[in-house]
Amino acid sequence: MSMSISKRLHELAQSDIRAMTRRCMEVGGINLGQGICDLPTPPLVRDAAIQAILDRKSIYSPCEGILRLRQAISTKLERDNGIAADPRSEIVVTTGSAAAFACTLHALLDPGDGLVIPQPHYGYHVNAARVAGVEVHSLVLNEPEYLLDADSLRASLRPNTRAILLCTPGNPSGHMLRREEIECVAEVARERDLLVITDEIYEYIRYEGREHLSPAALADLGPRTVTIMGLSKTFSITGWRLGYAVAPPAMAEAIALVHDVFYICAPTPLQYGVTAGFASPPDFFEEMRADYASKRERLFGALSTAGLDPIQPEGAYYMLARSAALNCSNSKEAAFSLLERCGVASVPGAAFYSGPQGEDWLRFCFAKEDADLDEACARLERLGA
Ligand code: GLN
Repeated sequence: MSMSISKRLHELAQSDIRAMTRRCMEVGGINLGQGICDLPTPPLVRDAAIQAILDRKSIYSPCEGILRLRQAISTKLERDNGIAADPRSEIVVTTGSAAAFACTLHALLDPGDGLVIPQPHYGYHVNAARVAGVEVHSLVLNEPEYLLDADSLRASLRPNTRAILLCTPGNPSGHMLRREEIECVAEVARERDLLVITDEIYEYIRYEGREHLSPAALADLGPRTVTIMGLSKTFSITGWRLGYAVAPPAMAEAIALVHDVFYICAPTPLQYGVTAGFASPPDFFEEMRADYASKRERLFGALSTAGLDPIQPEGAYYMLARSAALNCSNSKEAAFSLLERCGVASVPGAAFYSGPQGEDWLRFCFAKEDADLDEACARLERLGA
């Protein structure tokens, strides 16, 4: 039999996020590319997961997650997001927020349906849609504000558009949706009866006291919205793969059905770990924010000194910077050149756009231990000297 690869994968290439990590490891560089987030796991979360393993809580959980975790999520949604969600019928714990997104696509859309994904985008969203046979419609938002408005959203719609994805705080832009932007989405979603899917994994990482707004809590979006959140970033456990989707019961049930088919359940002992983490005192989140805010300042200063003219993000832990000063013909070359010259990895901007705009940018991640970030910043600063 001749080798046959699904047509859906023809346009799919390995992400530059991973390619840069591989190259960075080969040359022993400091990785500010992939959002690895190698900060220590909070002891509360770590110890509860270890205890669950010792207690032999290692068998499958229900496909929608252990009830105690769903109850903790429900309390948190009410407290922090203004979303009322029944833990028994409206919350599905998933194998990372990527699984929540993939299951949502497979459960609620059909091949040939269209999904609007604003740019700059997180490439995994685009690729997950392609694997599901969903057509991606782009909508380019402009730096430095990346504001969404009703007219440009309307202009991005095609006859087959069924849904729009909102990532707030955004990866890679850090843009945090304003109330007016969410109201515009609600207006257009109502006109065209669109499903709204959000990715709010960076909800707790935000600066200058900005408030995170969950679209499902605003306007009349609740009944047409799937809210996706995750624990990777909040508890620095990117490798644990734990996230969740929140949706009205019929949609949540369909998402759980697909999650069961693809994954059976999210890792059970780790679900116990994060359940404990939900009891973290408010200072935990304040300290995390203060820590990221100081890392953000440090990186902003270094990239400015290096002549890369960065944009200060409103939330999340990425920073976009201009690649022009590196005098390369595209962003991939610029990222490789930077890695060769100073041993610091970034992600080429092309990973975040479908058109040529991406070639002007590099993305840097500052979710690093201070010692590594300081060394990376010192190297970047020397570049500007
Ligand atoms: N979300 C992280 C990033 O944007 C990591 C994703 C990944 O490894 N694919 O870098």
